[in-house]
Amino acid sequence: MTDIVRAHGGLDAFVQAYAAGSVGDDEMTRFLRDVFEHGLDPERTYQLTMALVRSGETIAWSGLEHVVDKHSTGGVGDAVTLVAVPLAAACGARVAKLSGRALGHTGGTIDKLECVPGLTTDLSIAAFKEQVRSIGCAVSAATASIAPAEKKLYALRHRTATVASVPLIAASVMSKKIAAGAQAVVLDVKFGRGAFMQSLEAAEALSAAMQEIGKRAGLRVEALMSSMDEPLADSVGDALELDEALSLLEGDRATGRVSGPLRAVALTVAETMLECAGLPFDGVDRALESGAALAKFKELVSAQGGRLESFDRTWPEPKHVGAGHRGVVAGLDARAIGEMVAEGKRRAAGAGASRVGVRMLRRLGSAVGEGEPVMAYWLPREMDAEEALARTISIAPDATDVAPLRVVRHRALRGSAG
Ligand code: URA
Repeated sequence: MTDIVRAHGGLDAFVQAYAAGSVGDDEMTRFLRDVFEHGLDPERTYQLTMALVRSGETIAWSGLEHVVDKHSTGGVGDAVTLVAVPLAAACGARVAKLSGRALGHTGGTIDKLECVPGLTTDLSIAAFKEQVRSIGCAVSAATASIAPAEKKLYALRHRTATVASVPLIAASVMSKKIAAGAQAVVLDVKFGRGAFMQSLEAAEALSAAMQEIGKRAGLRVEALMSSMDEPLADSVGDALELDEALSLLEGDRATGRVSGPLRAVALTVAETMLECAGLPFDGVDRALESGAALAKFKELVSAQGGRLESFDRTWPEPKHVGAGHRGVVAGLDARAIGEMVAEGKRRAAGAGASRVGVRMLRRLGSAVGEGEPVMAYWLPREMDAEEALARTISIAPDATDVAPLRVVRHRALRGSAG
């Protein structure tokens, strides 16, 4: 541990002093750089996590069983929460979900949900608890009072390029889960081009670090790792992803609008949430097909003030990107597509920002003829997006070069946060 932390009387005192403003950004940056470069052992990673938890309020769920949360480490077209939360709740879980906004090239659940006119994600802790008790699920933005030191630290990590550190990400994620009082958490750890962790090994290290914190905190943690080389949903963009999640909940696969890996990952996450909450987990397909999950989603929307019937699901005529030559789609660069959509949102500013996006018309493994459309897009005209989007598409001569979606259950054998 750095001298600076020792001089302040240990990690807890150091973090609380930072939250209170008596430790400045300069001193904290020295600590962050040290962790970024040299790692942090499991015990200190846990101490950092608990210091972040203690900086604010915590939620208790006394008397309520089967409370479960899920967390994705961030991806492109990752609309899993919109489907898995109502699905798990429809099967009996109590899902208390604190979500975030878009971060870098990755999207955020809060931005997607807020596309529903009238819907608020700014729930007080009391309202959040009441909704979970009464309808079995709530999705709220983390309030300022939950782990405030984590928020301050997170902003500083962005400014100092110290985000991509296993112990810092693990402490950041788990502090919010522990403060929100979940009894069980499913972690959806992404790896690949569109994820913060590019390799499976890095994702395993992150997963192991988070599971170790969970073990020390007495929390049941299950981790899944899913590849994020191509966007998960067919669509990338806030309103487009909400539209697609609704199509999935409506069982609208016959339209061909939901063909990507979103369904498989959302079902696996929901099953794991139920298992983690100690509930039977063999009914998720039925809950989806019967419309029970859709009904639960509608309940959630109206409990949070949303008017789903006013959500505009019609789209203006898009522009298209065609295949450069005949073959099989072997790559759809999730990171580059996520960056284009994030840039489109910045440029469109205001209400229009939620309606920019890209829709994959072909997925990995699809055969395409020369010039056939691979993507449709709605991006500000001045971005001249066609060429840049065309570069995100790789076409191989045949299917042997196509890496399929991978979803791996990860049980850490030993904690490692270095
Ligand atoms: N998501 C989080 O909540 N924290 C991180 O540090 C990175 C991704």
